[in-house]
Amino acid sequence: MNGPIPWRLKCVECDTLYRGHEIRYRCDCSGTLDVITTLAAATSGPLLETFDARRSSFIPADVSGVWRFRELVLPLPPDEVVTKGEGNTALYDASPLEDFTGVADLRLKHEGENPTGSFKDRGMTVGVSVAKSLGCERVACASTGNTSASMAAYAAQAGMRAFVFIPEGKIAFGKLSQALAYGARTIQIPGDFDDAMKLVERVCVDEGIYLLNSVNPFRIEGQKAIGLELMQDLRWRAPDWIVLPGGNLGNNTAIAKGLLELRDLGLIDRLPRMAVIQAEGANPLYTAWRDGTDVQPLTAETLATAIRIGSPVSWRKSLRGIRALNGVVEQVSDQEILEAKARVDAAGIGAEPASCATVAGVRKLCHAGVIRPDDQVCGVLTGHLLKDPDTVVRFHRGQLEGIDSGVAANPPVTSDGTLEDVRRLLQ
Ligand SMILES: *Cc1c(COP(=O)(O)O)cnc(C)c1O
Ligand SMILES: [Zn+2]
Repeated sequence: MNGPIPWRLKCVECDTLYRGHEIRYRCDCSGTLDVITTLAAATSGPLLETFDARRSSFIPADVSGVWRFRELVLPLPPDEVVTKGEGNTALYDASPLEDFTGVADLRLKHEGENPTGSFKDRGMTVGVSVAKSLGCERVACASTGNTSASMAAYAAQAGMRAFVFIPEGKIAFGKLSQALAYGARTIQIPGDFDDAMKLVERVCVDEGIYLLNSVNPFRIEGQKAIGLELMQDLRWRAPDWIVLPGGNLGNNTAIAKGLLELRDLGLIDRLPRMAVIQAEGANPLYTAWRDGTDVQPLTAETLATAIRIGSPVSWRKSLRGIRALNGVVEQVSDQEILEAKARVDAAGIGAEPASCATVAGVRKLCHAGVIRPDDQVCGVLTGHLLKDPDTVVRFHRGQLEGIDSGVAANPPVTSDGTLEDVRRLLQ
């Protein structure tokens, strides 16, 4: 980049400021960092019209559902970004699920329709573009799966070497196959995600490898674009609620940050409320929220592997955002998640288990009277159905331990191959 860098890094704990263009993930006090940009406020001209006009551009960075909003994301030169045209995901009308959720106007923003099948691409295009602008040739992350799939793909496109740390045996098949296929060196380590996370941060600092975990503040800047694009889909009018799953809590932090910036710039006049949904077996934020305490790390267990996280890094930033959006935190059981998933899938929308915590959460909050039946609700589906085919097949065969597939089960049936027998099966 030429000229002065129009952003700074600011410590979440002690407000110390650092230059924007250096390899640094934490403050000297070990607090995590936030990206502070000043450009958008100084940009003259109608930003929303610019964002809308870029939807019909032929320039890759304009078409991207992240870089289209670059004044609010990160003002990198458009021809220097590593992009796959991420974003531009569908906002489905999920009103056919009203009998299940209780909400008439439910829409689902399907982030599984990103290039590698999850919202992680929105943060990764920014993270890898910054790595490139810093001249880094090696990148690494620890991951429950989708971050590694995404990083492997963007690093390959940028010609960088990628190193992925995953908890042994605890990663969905679709995600592992992506990391391998895109050529990342994939290192399985004993222990859980939280152990992998600690290890990779040390290795990166020691070896000078650029760290693309959720502690990397630039990924948050990219993920803000989920909220920005959702507002654009809704012609810049906020819904009553945005509902999404919470694991490491980067996503809710990012969406809240983006919406608050839109409001502070006077680009929207009203904020939605936010509901963050955790799995019962991985609920440190829910517990802290309910009890008014700090987050206490725990050993996480849930079938929704993308949110199987017991020690979320950015919980403090996350809670700030939830409070600013008058939000709530709820928890749902694996049984509730898989029932919701069966409904989302059978509606032809389809998503991986963690995503469906969103819909299970909408249902629970509506039954509790927190979300009203006539509220306009936008849920985020975070990952693609094919990320975790194993769980799907086992659910429909009734083979998931501790889960009752009930009437939703749709197992494959076998025929002896005669016309008569096939007719019988069509009944
Ligand atoms: C990463 C991920 C999550 C959790 O998002 P956080 O930002 O860690 O809270 C949820 N669902 C899917 C599919 C994911 O890949
Ligand atoms: Zn600090």
